[in-house]
Amino acid sequence: MSSSSSTTPLAEFGKKHVTKGLGQLTSGVMTKGQGSYMAFEDGRNMLDFTTGIGVTGLGHCHPKISGAAAAQCMELVHGQCSIAYHGPYLRLIEALLPMMPDKSLDSFYFWNSGSEGVEAAIKMSRIITKKQNIISMQGGYHGRTFGAMAVTKSKTIYSEGVAPLMPGVFQIPFPYWHQLGLPSTASEEQIVQQCLYQLELVLKQQSAPSDTAAILIEPVLGEGGYIPAPAAFLKGLREVCDKNNILLIIDEVQCGFGRTGTNFYIENSGVKPDIMVVAKGLANGFPLSAIISRTELTDKLKPGQLGGTYAGNAVACAAAIAVTEVMKEEKILDNVNTRAEELYACLNACRDKHPSIIVEVRGKGLMAAVEFASPAYSIYDPVHNTTAPKSLASRVARRCIDKGMLLLTTSVYEVIRFIPPLNISQADMQKGCNIFAEALDEVVREG
Ligand code: PLP
Repeated sequence: MSSSSSTTPLAEFGKKHVTKGLGQLTSGVMTKGQGSYMAFEDGRNMLDFTTGIGVTGLGHCHPKISGAAAAQCMELVHGQCSIAYHGPYLRLIEALLPMMPDKSLDSFYFWNSGSEGVEAAIKMSRIITKKQNIISMQGGYHGRTFGAMAVTKSKTIYSEGVAPLMPGVFQIPFPYWHQLGLPSTASEEQIVQQCLYQLELVLKQQSAPSDTAAILIEPVLGEGGYIPAPAAFLKGLREVCDKNNILLIIDEVQCGFGRTGTNFYIENSGVKPDIMVVAKGLANGFPLSAIISRTELTDKLKPGQLGGTYAGNAVACAAAIAVTEVMKEEKILDNVNTRAEELYACLNACRDKHPSIIVEVRGKGLMAAVEFASPAYSIYDPVHNTTAPKSLASRVARRCIDKGMLLLTTSVYEVIRFIPPLNISQADMQKGCNIFAEALDEVVREG
């Protein structure tokens, strides 16, 4: 099977008629997803280390999940939830309850996408606390609708030219050495202290606790560079929230549902969210998000304040129930942790081979990243850099695509992110690692 792309009439049609604002990693037309592979109309069959940006965690077209959706299609497709609850909606809650990182999370509301989930969480936090301001993280990504866009601070492209955005949004830095202007060797304690100090300042200088409804965080910064938040930072946020009657919203849209080796990343810290937003892996490709909170909080909402025509679609809910079953039956968390060891071993070996090029290998479970030295970086950290060619991340990712593996860059820095299927086989993980290592060697050799 060839891996180089060639144009087809359908691909040319797309170039002309699909609205330009949509970026594309590779040209060509996807035709069939099967397990860890994505086939294209031009004959390529690509190993998929993007999983549709962290969505198809259980592989493309998992038979049990597709089967559950197909069966549901013949029973009930759209049972509008403001008319009556439908069976899959309620059975999905039953399946999710035992997975919750904190047993007090017992109030569920489903919508279609991560952005809508974040919108609902913001809205709920304002209604519940009767306060307006939201504090989010520098580098955070929460979606492209207006509220979600306002709290997103990862790249200006998402909001460029569309101001005014939703007001009442404030930022503190996420604990990431690069954003703080520190070397990658900076201690976790120093990084966490700096960020919590900035939070204290924001609450004193910009958004009084009496005006602040919520602090919103991706516990693993996704779009901003795949950086797991230290437990000490999450605990610090929780303490500040408790002291000031502020809600803590945890956005697990990208890092949730087994991606980091536990059901939810927040479990690692023992921190209890007030509201948790989940999407992507929840339904393995069917559009579905969950906004999860505590009834003691959500009882403050009035009927009709939440809703949406397609919210909690029956087919998507049936698929999500199957996802929860597959996670258990196929021991997915065990596979994530075993495959992750292999992936980090490969990435660390690459770093050891190219110490002046790779600044950091990081991540948790199968949410992994490699950060390359970037030209601006040398200004404040002469230890690394200097030999790093420009746009290394894009060039390596492109080379991987040429070699038959879909791979994404991320963040404003030089970062490649690895988001393989959670049920990837050992052989396919090895194949992906080999492709990356070869691509890196070639690009470095070329300079
Ligand atoms: N939150 C996080 C952490 C995300 O990674 C994303 C999407 O990548 C979103 C929210 C928005 O989700 P969606 O694209 O489904 O609207």
